[in-house]
Amino acid sequence: MYICHLCPRNCGAARSETEGKGFCRLPSEMRIARIAPHLWEEPPISGTRGTGAVFFSGCTLRCVYCQNAEISHRNEGRPFTEYELSEALRRLVDMGMHTISFITATPYTDAVLRTLERYRPPVPLVWNSSGYETVETLRRLDGAIDVYLPDLKHHAASMSRLCAGVDDYFEITAKAIQEMVRQTESPVYDAEGIMTRGTLIRHLILPGSTGESRALLNWIYDTFGDSIPVSLMRQYVPCNNVSVPGLNRRVTEREYLRVLECMRALGLQGYTQDSESAETEFVPVFNQAESFV
Ligand code: SF4
Repeated sequence: MYICHLCPRNCGAARSETEGKGFCRLPSEMRIARIAPHLWEEPPISGTRGTGAVFFSGCTLRCVYCQNAEISHRNEGRPFTEYELSEALRRLVDMGMHTISFITATPYTDAVLRTLERYRPPVPLVWNSSGYETVETLRRLDGAIDVYLPDLKHHAASMSRLCAGVDDYFEITAKAIQEMVRQTESPVYDAEGIMTRGTLIRHLILPGSTGESRALLNWIYDTFGDSIPVSLMRQYVPCNNVSVPGLNRRVTEREYLRVLECMRALGLQGYTQDSESAETEFVPVFNQAESFV
């Protein structure tokens, strides 16, 4: 049993191996919903053979529109020991994965670090997160994680309150991303174009929110210049019976182009997506027999 302050929710809640009383309701033992090759991350993460993606159960942010609500809101998944995870990581490496991705792993930071002491995969390790992280927890990952893949979702407090029930998303995430960049510096790529070290910031455009997107892109440029790549995502699909007004539709072509134009005008480097990616069939299958290598 320990008292948890791992994420900015800062619950100070008790977490035992089998029970969690904090906002995330997660026990300290790892819960995982999928461990499998994943081909649909950005090219420097997935390459041609894929990233070995470990989707952890639960989320410390829980956006109302989440595409993966069965794991982020409802904590679906099965318990994993550190030994079991290390063996699964070995299998992913044997399958030829370019990278290993830990997705929404913050509530299990200690268990992940202990797993890596047991077996450190010989490929870049990616920390894929909502961006809503404390600098203290990120400092514990310094040297263990090679690549950070944070979201940068909201700029206005009113928007993060509406979507995730927190006023401080931007303030906290801005500091977290600066810490990630401090640790990893400018991106480094191998001969196959895989990022071996660095930070890649993801931004999902929301319908009716191009002003938010432009404010965030401007912050990236003002803070890092054009040194940090950005993945501009247009695949928003209304999910999880989202009831927030305005979020019940997809992003229009016009909205997407407006944000893309801003990214280009700032000279930010990075990645964009095809409109076909806005389909729910891109959502992986969780917590079924075929979900685990
Ligand atoms: S990881 Fe969970 S229990 Fe710990 S501070 Fe965050 S929400 Fe609370």
